[in-house]
Amino acid sequence: MRSDDEADGPLPAKPNGTGGFRPPATSLRLPGSIDLIHVVVAPCRTVKIPTVAAAMGSAIGPYGDSDLFKPSLILATATLLFFHTSVALAAAPKLKALIVDGQNNHDWQATTPILRKHLEATGLFAVDVATSPAKGQDMNDFQPKFADFDVVVSNYNGEPWSSATKQAFVDYVAGGGGFVIVHAANNAFPEWPEYNEMIGLGWRGPEFGPRLTLDDAGRPVRTPQGQGPGAGHGPQHAYEVIVRDGEHPITKGLPSAWLHATDELYHGQRGPAANMRILATALSASDQGGTGAHEPMLWVIPFGKGRVFTTVLGHSPDAMQCVGFITTLDRGAEWAATGEVTQTAVPADFPTADKTSQRK
Ligand SMILES: [Zn+2]
Repeated sequence: MRSDDEADGPLPAKPNGTGGFRPPATSLRLPGSIDLIHVVVAPCRTVKIPTVAAAMGSAIGPYGDSDLFKPSLILATATLLFFHTSVALAAAPKLKALIVDGQNNHDWQATTPILRKHLEATGLFAVDVATSPAKGQDMNDFQPKFADFDVVVSNYNGEPWSSATKQAFVDYVAGGGGFVIVHAANNAFPEWPEYNEMIGLGWRGPEFGPRLTLDDAGRPVRTPQGQGPGAGHGPQHAYEVIVRDGEHPITKGLPSAWLHATDELYHGQRGPAANMRILATALSASDQGGTGAHEPMLWVIPFGKGRVFTTVLGHSPDAMQCVGFITTLDRGAEWAATGEVTQTAVPADFPTADKTSQRK
């Protein structure tokens, strides 16, 4: 691990406007609307009103001139569909995401704007950033309002938060909140039991807890506490990420393997390793300073009513431009926020098994 130079601050937020018809303000506050809107919006985006009207018009012939297919009714129906579509598109509230940073042995000032850019580019998220006091400063006033957000994305690896802030965070996730852990964020808080439950595996020594890897056939292999290697990584290199669970919304439809851009490959992570659903692994090759095992790269864990997604990819700004990283981050954040993923299309520039792909 290394400490990187500090770089730019957060990017300004992009405008949220969707254009077109603006509904009354009351339409923006649909009760419990997140799940509903996702169901409604996806099909509505493909609706072409003329096509709908034409299709309904063509039905007049076979069924005769019944009231059901009178032109005026068709027009009224088409008009209603139009407004329904417009209202649904305009009223869809963005998911509220909070990136937490401020201390990290990585270049958080460079990587937070990249995480923000990726999330905002989906059009699904409105992103805020909560930056903690610097190392050595009083942390008591660092009290992000986690409960105001659908998902918290941690780019934080630093000093412990206050007891009140930790409790607020536990309450938030247990109460149904989403949590996304990016790379070194799983190095943080070894003294915090609930955090260790959420991450499942973290940057800890072998005495901390068991280790979980997969064998070549994808079967789990548990290494007991105190045995085997602790957390580490070899030299950075490009490596293949292998999807181990293609049925989860985060990985569904993605290629079964892709070549991830040059990055650290975490190995020997330790923790409670309970309730983990491993979505993807990477072979930590012995000739690359690794363990020879298939190490977890992407996984999810339930915590109370909440959902936690971990990606240990993304050491540097460059690694975070891998389209595999971007796609799984965006999907993981949506899933953590809602339990669903509407971003089902695989990007055209997604990496292949033998070729990396980055957006720069
Ligand atoms: Zn790193």
